Amino acid sequence: MKQRRIGLTGGIGTGKSTVARYLAERYGLPVLDADIYAREAVAIGSPILGAIAARYGPGAQLADGSLDRRRIGEIVFHDPAERRWLEQQIHPYVRQRFHQALETLPEDAATVVLAIPLLFEAGLTGLVSEIWVVACPLAEQVARLKARDRLSDSQIVARIASQMDLEQKVAQADVVLDNSQTPEALYAQVDQHMARG
Ligand code: ADP
Repeated sequence: MKQRRIGLTGGIGTGKSTVARYLAERYGLPVLDADIYAREAVAIGSPILGAIAARYGPGAQLADGSLDRRRIGEIVFHDPAERRWLEQQIHPYVRQRFHQALETLPEDAATVVLAIPLLFEAGLTGLVSEIWVVACPLAEQVARLKARDRLSDSQIVARIASQMDLEQKVAQADVVLDNSQTPEALYAQVDQHMARG
C-alpha cells in the first residue's frame, strides 16, 4: 500500500508544531521535522557552519562555537539576498535528510508526518502525498509568536514577511486547518481528516 505522507506546513507561529505534537501523541505517527534537520545542518563542526562563519566572521558563532541564531537571524530576516544564500546552504541538506529518514522508516508505517515550515518555499512538495496548512489570522500569529519567542514587533514582522503569504499556502493546500480558536477546536479538525484516511 502506498504510504500516506502528510506535509504539515503553515506560517511561523500558526500552529504547525501543535498539530505535529498532537498527531504524534494521539495517533502515534512518526514525525519527521525539518527544523531538527536544519539545526543539524549547522551543528558545531559542520561544513555549513564553517561556510557561515567564513561569510559573516567570528560574530556568527557564540563562545561555545555554536551558531549565533539571533545574530544570523538579524542579518537574514532583513536582507533577502543573504537569506537566500543561507537557505541555499541548508535546504539541500534538509532535503537529503528527509530522503534518508523516509528510506529508514519501518515498512509498516502507513502514515508519516513531514513537518516542513518552508514546504513551498524550499520546493519540497514532491516529498509528500498531501499538504496540510495550519492557518490563523495575522493578529493571532503575531500575539502567539510574541508570547512564545519574546521577539519584538519588528522582528516578528520581518520573519512573517520573509515567508510566502499564508493565503498563497492556503490556496495550494489539500487540507486547511483553521487555528483561530482553541487548541481543542484545532484537534477536532485533525481528527476529522485522520478519520477520512
Ligand atoms: P508553529 O510551529 O507553526 O511555529 P506553534 O505550534 O509553536 O506554531 O504555535 C505557536 C504558539 O502559539 C505556541 O506557543 C503554541 O503553544 C501557541 N498556540 C498554538 N495554537 C494555539 C491556540 N489555538 N490557542 C492559543 N495558543 C496557541
